Amino acid sequence: MLLIGSHVNFGSKDQLLGSLNIALSYGANTFMFYTGAPQNTLRSKIDDSITKEAILKMEENNMKLENIIVHAPYIINLANNKDESKYDFSIRFLKEEVKRCEKIGIKYLVLHPGSHVGIGVEEGIINIIYALNKVNEENQNVIILLETMAGKGTEIGTYFEQLKTIIDGVNDKTKIGVCLDTCHLNDAGYDISNFEQILDDFDKIIGLSYVHCVHVNDSKNEIGAHKDRHENIGYGTIGFNNLINVIYCPRLDNIPKILETPWIGENPPYKEEIEMIRNKKFNSKLK
Ligand code: FE
Ligand code: FE
Ligand code: ZN
Repeated sequence: MLLIGSHVNFGSKDQLLGSLNIALSYGANTFMFYTGAPQNTLRSKIDDSITKEAILKMEENNMKLENIIVHAPYIINLANNKDESKYDFSIRFLKEEVKRCEKIGIKYLVLHPGSHVGIGVEEGIINIIYALNKVNEENQNVIILLETMAGKGTEIGTYFEQLKTIIDGVNDKTKIGVCLDTCHLNDAGYDISNFEQILDDFDKIIGLSYVHCVHVNDSKNEIGAHKDRHENIGYGTIGFNNLINVIYCPRLDNIPKILETPWIGENPPYKEEIEMIRNKKFNSKLK
């Protein structure tokens, strides 16, 4: 089944119900949200009665809570431990974020592996592994999904081999997975026009069973640019047909596909983009 949705807002007042209503207005059957602003750590208390109401409404609309994704805030950086208090804060905040997801019943939490900021990839990976093992708890249902990164600055997780090393170090493999991001893959140097080859490589290095979410974005930049600037579907260097191939790839069936494309002026493009994707027909009038 095609699971298609987008990033949506999560308000402190209407929480999951508000996010669901936005997703429904886009014609989505999945969605992703940050439990607060992506850039800060201010978080409201999860209201169980709202969650319950939202889950009921999801069922009425044939949506499953297990297909809903949460994205951890950007300020978490598990890769650099030079500033010990910052590193500890990242670990503590991620642990709290996992608990918030548990409280709502969210299964998948997407995380940027982190930036080493000068200490090197090897040290950075050691720090990420240590932190993840510190965060994960035995009775935890949440699976942390490491996102494939564009390789901007000193980002770790740009190549499958790096993600593989991290996963190898995580004690409990049932609590770790991967989120593929098409813009990031392109900017990292992977050719989306040869997506089957990318999946073959991923399968050989990590194993396709680790993929639980796909971020579908076009890119403003050429393959290997290491930039990370998202573009609307069909308006970037990856192109509409290549993204359609990713979205409808049988090897990724039933895995949530989430749009994180830029707004057009004041307006979210998601209703139109989801329509394009469902019709498999490019809309050249979107922007
Ligand atoms: Fe991300
Ligand atoms: Fe992403
Ligand atoms: Zn990005």
